[in-house]
Amino acid sequence: MRPTTKLIHNTAMTETQFGEASPAIYRASTFQQDPNANQAPFVYSRMKNPTRSALEAVMADLEEGAAGFAFSSGMAAIAAVLNLLDSGDHLIVPRDLYGGTDQILRELVGRQQLSVSYVDMTSPEDIRAHVTPKTRAIYVETPSNPTLRITDLRAVVGLAQEHHLMTIADNTFMSPYLQRPLAMGIDVAIHSATKFLGGHSDVTAGVAVARDAKVGEALAKIQSMYGGILGPDDSWMVIRGIKTLGVRLDRAQNNAHALAQFLAGREEVAQVYFPGLPDHPGFALHQSQAEGPGAVLSFTLVPEISVRDFVGALRYALYGVSLGGVETIVSHPETMSHAAMDPQVRESIGITSQLLRVSVGIEDIEDLVADFQNALDQGRRHRVL
Ligand SMILES: *Cc1c(COP(=O)(O)O)cnc(C)c1O
Repeated sequence: MRPTTKLIHNTAMTETQFGEASPAIYRASTFQQDPNANQAPFVYSRMKNPTRSALEAVMADLEEGAAGFAFSSGMAAIAAVLNLLDSGDHLIVPRDLYGGTDQILRELVGRQQLSVSYVDMTSPEDIRAHVTPKTRAIYVETPSNPTLRITDLRAVVGLAQEHHLMTIADNTFMSPYLQRPLAMGIDVAIHSATKFLGGHSDVTAGVAVARDAKVGEALAKIQSMYGGILGPDDSWMVIRGIKTLGVRLDRAQNNAHALAQFLAGREEVAQVYFPGLPDHPGFALHQSQAEGPGAVLSFTLVPEISVRDFVGALRYALYGVSLGGVETIVSHPETMSHAAMDPQVRESIGITSQLLRVSVGIEDIEDLVADFQNALDQGRRHRVL
């Protein structure tokens, strides 16, 4: 089955009770037990719930893993996966890590539960240089947020195997439609399902998928014990979102490509970061491990253009945080997603006050380009210099 078909004809659709075209929502928190049997499929919904299980099976299927787990948010999924580590373990992460993950790690480092090295994840040499006898895992995000840097997933897996390390990939920006890290040997894939999987900016959810059953068992235990589970209604929302993931991403990706090309040709724009442009340093590498550049890009406005006036003039794009919705969302990483980051580190990874990130939606591309064109004109009219 090709990926687009699999998004629709998956286990949630085939393992139904009545052949229903949309899976049932089981809101029950508890289930009748058979006093003569010791293993009921469902006992208590924190432990396992049929609607959540349907989503988890779909995600395991799409990510080509042994077991999937759905959580109340992307951060809850990440926290559960980090719970696989033991006190004293050393973790290698990218410098341009998602802000929320960075905050959790700084907490854990502060309490001396973990030690963390921040590396240039695009450089296998830099990763290797930070491996110590205490290193337990490598955590990657590719493309990275917000400057879309590309990490070589196969190289990371090779290095991890050499040193018997676990590998974790936050696959939120790509979704399993475009990139399947587990198929390349990564041990755990994580998603903020709030983004492309849900796809409509109307549900907060997270998913983790383990490549092998043993890691899956450990995650099942963490999920059931700590209880940061996704409820049945939200599980259903994500199942529904996944059905249109292919058409949404195809369209959004084409739009992103066109918008990136438009921006790259404008003198008001100093730099465009998009892995679908041939001059992106990770272009070839990304093509070798993913099926498309995705729908997120970022760009810097030249100093003469006012960011405030530019975003104020956008008519269609929502100005705010998040990504992966059907609507275009423009965000300002310096004051939003990366506000908590050390300013020097922020600057060193290209997050300046002139940088904007765009999650390109599925609007008509001519309207989008016209909107950005008009906003550039406005930013120029009220030039700050
Ligand atoms: C949004 C996001 C998260 C966090 O997910 P929530 O659903 O907001 O908790 C983690 N990683 C990446 C890459 C994200 O974009």
